[in-house]
Amino acid sequence: MKHRPLPHLAEALERRAEQNLLRVPPPRLASSRTFCANDYLGLAERPLSETAATAPGGAGASRLVCGDTDAHGVLEGALATWIGLPKALVFASGYAANVGTLATLLQPSDVVFSDRANHASLIDGMRLAKAQVVPYAHNDLAALESAMTDHAPGPNGRRWVVTESYFSMDGDGPDLPPLRALCDETSSLLVLDEAHAIGVFGAEGRGLADAKGIAPDVFLGTLGKAIGAQGAFVAGAPELIAYLWNTARSFVFSTGMSPALALHAADNVRRVRAGDALRERLHRNTARLREGMQRLGCTIHGHGPIVPWVIGEESAALERARALLEAGFHAQAIRPPTVPAGGARLRITTSAAHDPSDVDAFLAALEKVLSR
Ligand SMILES: *Cc1c(COP(=O)(O)O)cnc(C)c1O
Repeated sequence: MKHRPLPHLAEALERRAEQNLLRVPPPRLASSRTFCANDYLGLAERPLSETAATAPGGAGASRLVCGDTDAHGVLEGALATWIGLPKALVFASGYAANVGTLATLLQPSDVVFSDRANHASLIDGMRLAKAQVVPYAHNDLAALESAMTDHAPGPNGRRWVVTESYFSMDGDGPDLPPLRALCDETSSLLVLDEAHAIGVFGAEGRGLADAKGIAPDVFLGTLGKAIGAQGAFVAGAPELIAYLWNTARSFVFSTGMSPALALHAADNVRRVRAGDALRERLHRNTARLREGMQRLGCTIHGHGPIVPWVIGEESAALERARALLEAGFHAQAIRPPTVPAGGARLRITTSAAHDPSDVDAFLAALEKVLSR
């Protein structure tokens, strides 16, 4: 077939390139040299286990048609037990989970308060819903409270608060107990995206809500980060999960997760729960990296294995990333619209897959790059 050129797209891409905003997949390096993965516990490199490989590779249909298998039940049972909530439902990805869940839960007369740094999948889910969306300053509970006073829901409407517990690009999060208290005082429902927190923080890696002793109304977790597989889940009350089975369009109108992958993810959940040694290794590497970067004079933010080094200009961030790549290390430059304009950064992450000597080698390369 002879392709038909699309000059307006070629022009748009040229404009992006001129602004240093063109995106292309970088080369994949060994995990010892990769400092931007979300594979916090080093589980992503595991090939499918033998048990997983006995299950069908494909579901064959949406789970509501004929794609529902025992493997899905095994994974959802394991997730609900781990997180400590009654039920869980798996989606093909975190993007699909957030878009489908928010689009169906938020009603036209509702008001949803959204942290300004929320992930694109949360933003897109809120855009699909007809509710009024009120963004508030990142992690700022006083700003949230005053936004709540200014924006009342419509007749029979509800208030919702949507936030991540550990922000993917900032390595920080809201103070959860006062946030939960504010939600209770204002009869607001709390949607908490723990994509980067599960596996990493808390007992058995249950995440920050559990670690801080609060329960969100809607819990979102991904399987593609510390769990090292692919997919995502929502956990909560039985009626929440039954409602999503019926109404979340990204679930209903989408092929069920691969059963083999579901068993693989369930196996990895077992490893994550028993993974205190991996978490200790991760947090030791994190401390080493953060101390080293501070010693080199880098302005870094947050806490934990996501280490944002905010540089500002897109071109400067790209240049730093390019120089590190020349030195054999991959730390991805993150540019708008993933982060706000002027907030280009290197988002550096550590993993239990790193040896302390890998962290030292990265710091040595960074020191050279900084002295250029
Ligand atoms: C990565 C991420 C998602 C999307 O998850 P995928 O499974 O990669 O689609 C959702 N929310 C947050 C906060 C994320 O960082």
